[in-house]
Amino acid sequence: MDEFDFINKLKPKQLFQKHVKVGIGDDAAVYEPSVNMNQVVCVDTMVEGVHFLKSLSTPTEIGYKALAVNLSDLAAMGAIPRYYLVSISIPSSWREEELLGIFKGMEELAEAYQMDLLGGDTVSTHDKLVITVTVIGEAESHVQTLRKQARDGDIVFVTGTIGDSAAGLAVLLNQLTLENEMFEKYLIHRHKRPTPQIRAGRLISTLHRASLNDISDGLASELHEIAEASQVGIMINEVDLPISEELLFVKKTTDINNWVLFGGEDFELVGTTSQESWDELKRACNLEGIKMTKIGVVSTTYSDVLLKRKNDHIMKLEKSGYNHFKK
Ligand code: ADP
Ligand code: MG
Repeated sequence: MDEFDFINKLKPKQLFQKHVKVGIGDDAAVYEPSVNMNQVVCVDTMVEGVHFLKSLSTPTEIGYKALAVNLSDLAAMGAIPRYYLVSISIPSSWREEELLGIFKGMEELAEAYQMDLLGGDTVSTHDKLVITVTVIGEAESHVQTLRKQARDGDIVFVTGTIGDSAAGLAVLLNQLTLENEMFEKYLIHRHKRPTPQIRAGRLISTLHRASLNDISDGLASELHEIAEASQVGIMINEVDLPISEELLFVKKTTDINNWVLFGGEDFELVGTTSQESWDELKRACNLEGIKMTKIGVVSTTYSDVLLKRKNDHIMKLEKSGYNHFKK
């Protein structure tokens, strides 16, 4: 494979953002930031065999997810996505067609958000494919949806439904079979093609104050991060956790609690805000058809992350890992 030929094929035919001055093809890219906006940037790496398996995902699905997980981080900062850069280390076991498939998966999502590929790096490696995606977004200079901003009395909220992605992975790994093929497909889709909650993040960014995190490592883990950074306690209610119809179907025969609380990779947003701002957020989300659920409260009278079970029994939620649930 010719590296220059390959890079040429990555060059976008058109640019969405008019502020790009130099795109792919020179030593570095140049763009003009928008006035009164802060630049928000993050990077994430996916390693073959660790974060994805070539046997379970198509190149397009791998590419889609590599960009999606980064967009989810931008969403949690209330930012608008603008640009991305891709560094890829390629072993000889991957064909050019497959590599272009990875970029196609990213393009799909990039187009939806009008993001431009500004550059990257291409190297060869001996063993596994490694892909590192950097994204650049913008948020109004006053916007800060930080983990440390939870306060006593806040409402804890979450977007969408949780637990689907981990259940989808279990289906992919043959650890879970459903009697319903459509539902299996849905759960797998939630694992392979998570939707970054950019719009919800933008709505939350307009609130007077909010703490926010995206759910990559699991609800319990993200709540712990907020609680630790803000030095508060959090109590969530099991009955209020938003579960999809598909996962409720699984629940008839299987314990889903570990997926819901610790599964991760749902890439929904979890955060906290005042009662007043919650009312405002709920209204805004209703208008836009965004599912937003109150799942608990913040309190400084305790310092742990707690789960109130269906029988009113209160248990401590560990940061991660498997919890044994008593009935
Ligand atoms: P340099 O030697 O200056 O680092 P490269 O040959 O690595 O240049 O890259 C040439 C151009 O192609 C640069 O604009 C770079 O950003 C872009 N590029 C290289 N690899 C990728 C990639 N995987 N994705 C996007 N752009 C890339
Ligand atoms: Mg280079």
